[in-house]
Amino acid sequence: METNEIRINGDRLWQRLMTMAQIGATAKGGVCRVTLTDEDKAGRDLFVNWCEAAGLTITVDEMGNIFGRRAGQNNDLPPVLAGSHLDSQPTGGKFDGVYGVLAALEVVETLNDHNLITEAPLEIVSWTNEEGARFTPAMVSSGVWAGLFSLEYAYGREDKNGRFLGDELQRIGYKGELPAHHRPLTAAFELHIEQGPILEYEGRQIGIVTGVQGARWYHLTIPGKESHAGSTPMNVRHDPVKTAVSLLGRAYAIAEKYEPDIRLTFGDLRPSPGVVNTIPGELLVTVDLRHPSEAVLDEVEGLFTKLAEEHGAKLVNIWTSEAVVFAEKCVQAVETAVSITGYSARRITSGAGHDSVYLSRVAPTSMIFIPCADGLSHNELESATQEDVVAGANVLLHAVLAAAQP
Ligand SMILES: [Zn+2]
Repeated sequence: METNEIRINGDRLWQRLMTMAQIGATAKGGVCRVTLTDEDKAGRDLFVNWCEAAGLTITVDEMGNIFGRRAGQNNDLPPVLAGSHLDSQPTGGKFDGVYGVLAALEVVETLNDHNLITEAPLEIVSWTNEEGARFTPAMVSSGVWAGLFSLEYAYGREDKNGRFLGDELQRIGYKGELPAHHRPLTAAFELHIEQGPILEYEGRQIGIVTGVQGARWYHLTIPGKESHAGSTPMNVRHDPVKTAVSLLGRAYAIAEKYEPDIRLTFGDLRPSPGVVNTIPGELLVTVDLRHPSEAVLDEVEGLFTKLAEEHGAKLVNIWTSEAVVFAEKCVQAVETAVSITGYSARRITSGAGHDSVYLSRVAPTSMIFIPCADGLSHNELESATQEDVVAGANVLLHAVLAAAQP
């Protein structure tokens, strides 16, 4: 059989997804496999068993990240890495993370079935605590691996019951010896459900992910003057809510010019003192602004700053997450895989964070998305069709193959 004609075993992958979903299964059809719990340990053990049966060499690093290696023809070449995470939200679904891990394993199984040895070695990975649901922040282990956080910082993360991440790693037996530190990779791929509605809405099976949008948070402070709601005539008031009506309206109008990729949310409006019969002395508005391009974010930030000044208000940046642009050679490998497999596809940027964000800082990285029903994720009702699950894994297979040949 020609290499381009090889396809993954969809039933094996689907069966494994459903078997894994029984660990921590919830009544509503979701999964609760929160990081470093007994359920997480059981999920890891099952994954490691499958990996060993597939002939992979397992290593576990100091952060509990699990790597399964399949030798190549030239083992001096850096490996091609594929994977995601096995942990879930407390009320999570059957696909978020685990799909990318088990599809990477299915790629290995398929290569085994066809006695195909790639030029570069392959490694599959499951990153610890991607979700950040029990220990904040999210993606902490890929963050340590990429050199963004220290091991001490990560081990010292505490859950709400006063347990520490380092101790819990030890307790479940996944505190490994291998340094949690990046090493050269030929390429890295992460297959994931979209966690948004775009692919489903457009009826496409594959998202060729070109990057992750940047996000900036601000505090917008609009001044006013506290006074009596009954005795102060409308025309002498200094009412920050009235100012906000104009200011926010114009901000929405600015955002409209950057459709369809912009996201603007005023998620929390806090008048102070926040009393029914007092005109507020001040209104604080939180601003969440997102776009795939840093240049656009700079431009909109400039316009919003000017707009705030015109209204006597102040805009202060409180948090920033820079936009990520994935490596063109990895995006190209996914494009190649899409043309080999023939699935309908579009380029897309990720609205959510992933381990690939940190990986992309130290290795050529990109992602592949498939649709999920109603764009729902972090929800027990999260679902994807077997057809799309298979399509994504076939694209992962051929992206890995494209990247593993020099
Ligand atoms: Zn995920």
